[in-house]
Amino acid sequence: MRIRLLATALFSCAVPLAAAAQRVSTVPLIPEPTVAALAGELSGASAKRNLEFITRQHRMRASRGFRSAADFVAAQAKSYGLEEVVVHEFPADGHTMYGTQRARLGWDPEFAELWEVRADGSRIAPVVRVASFEDEPVILAEDSDSADVTAELVDVGAGTSDKDYAGKNVRGKIVLTSEAPGDVVPLAYDKYGAKGVVSAAQNQPNAWSREDVNAIRWGHLDSFEARHAFAFMVSLKQYRGYVQRLAAGEHVMLHAIVKASRHAATYNPVTALIPGSDRKNEEIVLSCHLDHQRPGANDNASGCATILEVARTISKLVADGKIGRPSRGIRFVWPCEVECTLALFHSEPGMLARFKAVIHMDMVGGGPVTKSIFHVGRGPLSLPSFVSDVGQRFGAFMNTESQMYAQGTGGKYPMISGEGGKEPQLGDLDEFTMGSDHELYQEASWRIPAIYMNDWPDRYIHTNFDLPANIDPTKLQRAAFIGAASALYLANFKSTDTPALWSVMESASLRRLAQMLDRRSTLSAADGAALTRTFLAEERGAFESIASFAAIPDSTKQSANAYFARLETITGTPAAPPPASGDGALVFARNTAVSGPMVVFGYDYLADHTRGKIVPKLLDFEGLRGGGGEYGYEVLNFVDGKRNVRDIRDAVSAEYGPVDIALVTEYLRALESAGVIKAAK
Ligand SMILES: [Zn+2]
Repeated sequence: MRIRLLATALFSCAVPLAAAAQRVSTVPLIPEPTVAALAGELSGASAKRNLEFITRQHRMRASRGFRSAADFVAAQAKSYGLEEVVVHEFPADGHTMYGTQRARLGWDPEFAELWEVRADGSRIAPVVRVASFEDEPVILAEDSDSADVTAELVDVGAGTSDKDYAGKNVRGKIVLTSEAPGDVVPLAYDKYGAKGVVSAAQNQPNAWSREDVNAIRWGHLDSFEARHAFAFMVSLKQYRGYVQRLAAGEHVMLHAIVKASRHAATYNPVTALIPGSDRKNEEIVLSCHLDHQRPGANDNASGCATILEVARTISKLVADGKIGRPSRGIRFVWPCEVECTLALFHSEPGMLARFKAVIHMDMVGGGPVTKSIFHVGRGPLSLPSFVSDVGQRFGAFMNTESQMYAQGTGGKYPMISGEGGKEPQLGDLDEFTMGSDHELYQEASWRIPAIYMNDWPDRYIHTNFDLPANIDPTKLQRAAFIGAASALYLANFKSTDTPALWSVMESASLRRLAQMLDRRSTLSAADGAALTRTFLAEERGAFESIASFAAIPDSTKQSANAYFARLETITGTPAAPPPASGDGALVFARNTAVSGPMVVFGYDYLADHTRGKIVPKLLDFEGLRGGGGEYGYEVLNFVDGKRNVRDIRDAVSAEYGPVDIALVTEYLRALESAGVIKAAK
């Protein structure tokens, strides 16, 4: 490793002199020849070619489209020299429980068309085809069932409350709604006798949601309802056209034909391995999710093609002798989001037991038109880990290298794809966010630390416009670098790496200190003390987590202890909490027979196991930095048989903003009544 610092004269307008324009940043954590080898092999263009195949499949969980994407990924992984390449087959039968996930049935759409017709059912000339599955598969809401219906269209507005149906007869008709099909059919079908739904629901709303009126959004029905229903998704332009015509008193007749069914099938996650040289019982995982609507380029063919590129690159560099075989194995997982991961965890406990850390990629290729911000996120406070600092250090390196290159001031490893952009990476190195399979790895049932790379927002997410054309191969190449560098570092991590790691962690900790002090200044004394206690415990916990990978040398322990003493001088020793009383003193432990988070796909474990009778208010709470789903996830994660309710309330308050202990208690009682946790002692 060679560090070269050149004095750079700057004019007052900060334009660097051309002659002094070759600055080089320091390669962190791994040897520079490894970085050079990765930079010489990684190809965003190769990743994009794989992405293009994946985006041609309509990849619903447990469907033929998903299977063809899975078979393709498996074939590529084999051709790249990976071992133990398996396309798994786990029941997707509507009843098997994978921890807190009830398996959904497979769903295979074959055909769907929606036509505007005359009152007698004959087609209008010129023909008006409203929607075609052949044209855009996203037009058919997931879990739609077969139908052949010719009926009038009735505008029910939202269609989610009785007043939307007042004075309207929708029996036997097709309802037009602005809301999600799954939220509309209970009233529209069961109570008012409708026979179909046309929806323009805006799922995954963001600042651009209603601006592209031609975008068609992915829609869903309830997977577990026995009722047979169907829903077509239309663009806002189509929707508004119908609203206007119906308001003007026009009669609109539609002919809907759907061939689709839910049926017992299999989940088909793919796994593959680059074997380790010696620590064969330990593996670093690279994960993504292979499912979603066609094209689904950024969400999430991008993450899947990128981890495949990591696999190709590391496999080739090892085979060519350019890098050594990693000590721990590197396992690659291409699941359907959440469901396949839970099915894998519960079906392959031997593999799961080897997982030491995961690098999860969900949307990592959005080019400028997508408006994406790229993030390299930390783990939750319930799972402090050094792994977060590793991913963010490589993220920061990629930011610096690409920024220097874009500015014309150097950048030795900007990772530019010949087919891609030269824009700097402005990766946000941020706190824990939820939203994909990394939630499962880090859940208290498994506690596998994660590096989460994702784009957010993305103006085209879950629409027919999430296209390969919007994907920047340079961005794929950079995400692949961060993933590959992190995987190799973690796979090779040993005791002697600890001092250099600790110096990276110490500077990251100081940045978090600044943020914590800033937040504390807005809080009450009691909440400020709780925040300080949580912060100090978190920083210490992250350091101690190194021991789960390798022994921490005494000299590093001494440096760290000296740092933590200095830290407490700056924060002040926080006041001890007042003695917990009443419900605040309750201690719960996890029922280890129920593994997984409460929020999974299409299935609500808590509602199902309390017969829908308990709807904890915490889940509707909006805190300073998080909402009910986030509080709920972390409250359960903090349950460990030691923390009392007051401790848990303080910890989630530090993470997401102060919350009333009564809401936390009510939620824990609900979890207890569902058998997820039990009173300890
Ligand atoms: Zn996704």
